[in-house]
Amino acid sequence: MKKVAVDGPSGAGKSTISRLVAKRLGFIYVDTGAMYRACALSCLRVGVDIKGDPDGAAAVVAEVEIDIAYGPDGEQRVLLAGEDVSEEIRTPAVSVAASDVSAIPAVRHQMAALQRALAEKRDVIMDGRDIGTHVLPDADVKIFLTATAEDRARRRYEELCEKGQSVTYEEVLRDMTYRDTNDAARACAPLAAAEDAIRVDTTGNSLAQSIDLLYGIIKERLGR
Ligand code: C5P
Repeated sequence: MKKVAVDGPSGAGKSTISRLVAKRLGFIYVDTGAMYRACALSCLRVGVDIKGDPDGAAAVVAEVEIDIAYGPDGEQRVLLAGEDVSEEIRTPAVSVAASDVSAIPAVRHQMAALQRALAEKRDVIMDGRDIGTHVLPDADVKIFLTATAEDRARRRYEELCEKGQSVTYEEVLRDMTYRDTNDAARACAPLAAAEDAIRVDTTGNSLAQSIDLLYGIIKERLGR
């Protein structure tokens, strides 16, 4: 099986680019952030204090069944105990809670096992924060995708506005900075580029340019 890891900070375009490149390559796409978002949603629903009671939050996550399925259009759907929560996990509140819940080692352990199992089944492009460093250290290609914080916040802001969510650019930038700091500072599998990752900066690129760039790098590396 071929494995491609795409890591990087929030809003660098990982999901959109990886999903479309996977389609072009005929690989499945696994968005690992969506899994942490589903964990966060399960905690928010129960009302457990994620930061104040990490053991309680880990216990809630241990009980829930998180699964990835693919719709007829090939789109990834995230299932929480069988319920499709793909849309509900995209709110700013869930984003922040996902960053908090993902710092809990037991939760990371549980999700990483699920992610590795998915990569055993099919050729995969998996995006996240620790895929090249921890989840798939033997990946055939590792990419670390970045862009300036302003560029990333602007894209995420436009995305949320398109979905009809009422947020300001400043709120998006603040949440993003919080998550990036949190994700990079945590002790367990922090956001980091693997030593053998190819760094790609998408600042100022159009989506089409970034897709072509990544597709070219991955094709070239896989063909070696
Ligand atoms: O990628 P996305 O923004 O959807 O991820 C939500 C949160 O999940 C991130 O801010 C990060 O804290 C966490 N995450 C992680 N490891 C991954 C993927 C996401 O810690 N592999």
